[in-house]
Amino acid sequence: MNRLKGAVAIVTGGAVGIGRAACVRLAEEGAAVAITDIREAEGHALAVEIVSAGGAAAFWRLDVSKEAEVQQVFAAVSARFGPVTVLVNNAGIAGVNKPTHEITEAEWDALMAVNVKGVFFCTKHAIPAMRQAGHGSIINLSSIYGLIGAGDIPPYHASKGAVRLMTKNDALIYAPDRIRVNSIHPGFIWTPLVEAFAASQGAMEDVRKALDARHPLGHVGDPDDIAWGIVYLASGEARFVTGSELVIDGGYTAQ
Ligand code: NAP
Repeated sequence: MNRLKGAVAIVTGGAVGIGRAACVRLAEEGAAVAITDIREAEGHALAVEIVSAGGAAAFWRLDVSKEAEVQQVFAAVSARFGPVTVLVNNAGIAGVNKPTHEITEAEWDALMAVNVKGVFFCTKHAIPAMRQAGHGSIINLSSIYGLIGAGDIPPYHASKGAVRLMTKNDALIYAPDRIRVNSIHPGFIWTPLVEAFAASQGAMEDVRKALDARHPLGHVGDPDDIAWGIVYLASGEARFVTGSELVIDGGYTAQ
């Protein structure tokens, strides 16, 4: 409790999955949480749940690929809760699963608009508020697929590699402002995104078992496994941590 007292956090893609768990844990630790997502029903319901549990939260509909929306929503969040001090760039999509030579320009651009341009827009519009606050923590959701290849979903790999290095470069640019920027690299985490992937691959139980087996700890992760990493990087406990990559993958990339 109270590891994030006084913090104002924006979580993108915060209505379900990893983002949802992050919103719940950030609020439990005392942050005022702006839940943002394109899923409105789940986002509103989560805000009610957090406030009912005694936390501070509100929902804004936000498509991170639209700069004007990002600017407008970030200003509204700061007006409501005070200057933003924590940004969790979590919104992301898996995109098409085809070999590179079959991918269209439109499919490539659609993925990059969310996974890369969205991180750029949100970072760009969080920085002035963080400068005003005098400090900040930006947490970018990359992936193990930003570290290694798996031989599938090519635009996703490219996007998560980009996010990894945007993180390190922004860490350098904004260190003098006491704004830390770090990336998190999850293994497979059981969320709506992975469930949809599993459903497209065959019988859910079989696919889950196959995914479990890819992780040396013997199972895929839960959203909370990532949310606790987000809480740590957002908090003062990580005050000397910037430009780093936090791998939370059950040992997947240790092999
Ligand atoms: P998820 O279950 O799909 O949740 C992501 C949320 O973001 C959904 O509500 C989604 O809405 C929303 N979203 C999609 N496009 C958006 C946009 N343009 N603007 C705002 N919100 C948007 O995903 P997750 O599995 O929790 O993953 C969260 C992040 O972790 C992603 O960046 C993902 O790449 C990364 N990650 C996940 C895993 C994993 O195994 N789950 C592993 C490594 C990295 P819709 O459902 O309508 O699209």
